[in-house]
Amino acid sequence: MCRYEACSTFARYAALTPMSTTTVSSTRTSLLALPSTIPNQFGGQDAGAADGRTFDKVDPATGRVICQVARSGAADVSRAVETAKRAQPAWAATTVVKRGEILRRMAILMQEHRGEIADLVARETGKSRKDALGETDAAIEMGFFVAGEGRRFYGATSTSAVPNKTAMVIRQPLGVAGLIIAANTPIANVAWKAFPALLCGNSAILKAAEDTPLSAWAFGVIARAAGLPDGVYTTLHGLGEEAGAPLVQHADVDVISFTGSTDVGRWIAETAGRRLAKVCLELGGKNPLIVCDDADLKNAVTWTLGSAFSNAGQRCAAGSRIIVFDAVYDEFRAMLLEAAGALSVGTADTDDYGPVINEDQLTNMLAAVGRATKAGAVVLTGGRRLTGERYGGGYFVAPTILEHVGPGDDISRTELFGPITILYRVKDFEEALRVANDSPFGLTAAIHTRNINRAMAFVGRIQSGVAVVNGGTYGSEPHMPFGGLRQSGNGWREAGAQALDVYSDLKTVYILHDPAQN
Ligand code: NAD
Repeated sequence: MCRYEACSTFARYAALTPMSTTTVSSTRTSLLALPSTIPNQFGGQDAGAADGRTFDKVDPATGRVICQVARSGAADVSRAVETAKRAQPAWAATTVVKRGEILRRMAILMQEHRGEIADLVARETGKSRKDALGETDAAIEMGFFVAGEGRRFYGATSTSAVPNKTAMVIRQPLGVAGLIIAANTPIANVAWKAFPALLCGNSAILKAAEDTPLSAWAFGVIARAAGLPDGVYTTLHGLGEEAGAPLVQHADVDVISFTGSTDVGRWIAETAGRRLAKVCLELGGKNPLIVCDDADLKNAVTWTLGSAFSNAGQRCAAGSRIIVFDAVYDEFRAMLLEAAGALSVGTADTDDYGPVINEDQLTNMLAAVGRATKAGAVVLTGGRRLTGERYGGGYFVAPTILEHVGPGDDISRTELFGPITILYRVKDFEEALRVANDSPFGLTAAIHTRNINRAMAFVGRIQSGVAVVNGGTYGSEPHMPFGGLRQSGNGWREAGAQALDVYSDLKTVYILHDPAQN
């Protein structure tokens, strides 16, 4: 991971360049002035839901309503798909270099409005402005990376068994892309899907996460201002079953790219699979971090804190299973507890993490801790909601560490998506690896060791989509593929040039020619 956040291990995405010196032009602030009701954006047109319904967007840091949001349904999805379908052929006929140029303009505009976008992210998630800026920078960097792919967009040339026959493979768009995202790192989640989907010549419809409509709206404004042709990009707001499901079911949506929970991902795979639509799933994780007897314990504690608690643990790549060799278990546990005790929870830049995204999530994760405790788990610290004057009605959860949990217990096999982690005591490397691999998920994994042979054995044998040595379970870069095994996904990779494989199809081309007729 390229860590722009030298001062902190607490940002999901790593921007490649330190952009904190970029200035925000005050003359442009009106571009992202938030309306009191967040509309859908059908290309150039804003519109409420067809039936006029809205829902409340609540500030997770206070529990108070921030604004109203269009509550879309099947009729809005139909309008979005018709609009997208109409606009797509002309977009596909635009050269991919030109498409990349327009995406680059979007990235530049985002850079110019970086501070305002981060303000919206911070507002809708409750995370600190510093973290929101880091995430915004990563989204911008993704824009630049994907724009550059417009000048590569490699296919392949090959040979033929037949004389005077040229064989090659080129990319072609799929048509209409339906993009459905989670709320945890909202502007980066939009960028991770929208930029590659558009570069590949698709029109795209983003169903924003209902908890984070503000940054998705901002991206729609930027798309329009950058000159993306009308109808090529649509932002739809609404609840999963009301707005997301009709998008999945719509016969004219050619690819569904989903980031979210495994349960919803499974339903999407079944539903879209029935009509043989392409489906890319980026799902949950229960990611292991192994601390060996030869680890630099201080470094291991730092990365454990970041993996378990940054972004309030709301990462698919959160380190929620910390597997520690018996020889250093007691020492590591004492160091970790001391460090966790010093964490500060709140919305300021000086805090380590903020609230979880909504009250249901908070209730569910604390209920899971309660059930685990009844089954014999010991809560070493946390396990409760933070209340009192500082926290008001916000959804803040204390950093929580459990032990005396078996690898087969419910809480070991269920993603909680909160600032909750579990310590496991193991005798050696073989047992550590066995426990790490004993999971329904296989997204990311980390090991802390000074032994290169052990590190390489881990890299070879860990069953995960991402393996990290002496770092955290999280931290992805725009030019590197990201995704996981088993219930963490269905084999596709987001980001990197590999994302182009999600949003394009291959065309094999044979050209027969006759040199005698030149
Ligand atoms: P969720 O599955 O409840 O919701 C995610 C999105 O799906 C939301 O936009 C929601 O409105 C929509 N949705 C819900 N039901 C739907 C349906 N029936 N049809 C269509 N859309 C529907 O997930 P969440 O709790 O909001 O997000 C957390 C999950 O996301 C965690 O499991 C986390 O690991 C995962 N996640 C994965 C990655 C990754 O890259 N692998 C990244 C971030 C988050």
